[in-house]
Amino acid sequence: MRRAVIAVLLCAVVLAGCKNTPTHRRQTKTTPQKKETKKTQPPPSKPEKKAADTVPDLPKLAEKQERGPLSLGLLTRSKTGIRNVSPGRPAHVRGRLDVPLRRKWTSIVVHHSGTTSGSEESFHRYHKQVNGWRGIGYDFVIGNGHGTGDGVIEVTFRWEKQIHGAHAGVDHYNQHGIGICLVGNFNSGRPTKAQMDSLVELVSYLQEKCHIPTSKILGHRHVKNTDCPGTNFPYFQLLSRLPH
Ligand SMILES: [Zn+2]
Repeated sequence: MRRAVIAVLLCAVVLAGCKNTPTHRRQTKTTPQKKETKKTQPPPSKPEKKAADTVPDLPKLAEKQERGPLSLGLLTRSKTGIRNVSPGRPAHVRGRLDVPLRRKWTSIVVHHSGTTSGSEESFHRYHKQVNGWRGIGYDFVIGNGHGTGDGVIEVTFRWEKQIHGAHAGVDHYNQHGIGICLVGNFNSGRPTKAQMDSLVELVSYLQEKCHIPTSKILGHRHVKNTDCPGTNFPYFQLLSRLPH
């Protein structure tokens, strides 16, 4: 009898175990998965997804824009913030861009540096020490990855203090033209996609802020006898991508 009772009890325990096992397994299957997805997947995947969503997007847009009609995607972003322009230090650039206007700006003059590398700092030093100027002659510099980041916009003291430029070689355009210099020599090379994307965003921003029409977006050679910003500079592509 005792054996029979023990056997029955054992069966009951086993059956109970069998019944519990699947539910327990279900629990162990679901809870660890949730924990894994929560603990392991999001931290690596979220930043990866963000990076994948933003970084490859820009070249794709740029490629489409180079081929034909402008895509508004990039320009819409510029209205929501300049942060996409300058991945290196967005807050820094945005803060220095948005200064109170103290001068009547009527045009934008685009330059190339004529050098393969450079930055706000190196041009500032050169213009000050070699040219004997107060400092860098431009209002903005857009890097090409050599000397400063590719597509990174640097804001100079001239824009911050809203003083005249020293970039056009013509007084009117120094007084009322905003000077943007892209690092590079575009007689032999071309601006990078990141530089052009940043230039479009910066020019669009300045056009809106200063009410400058696209007809007043000029290359240096339009105001002075020079080949700046270089024979390969895609001037009409720039104009086609501007919203105003
Ligand atoms: Zn120039």
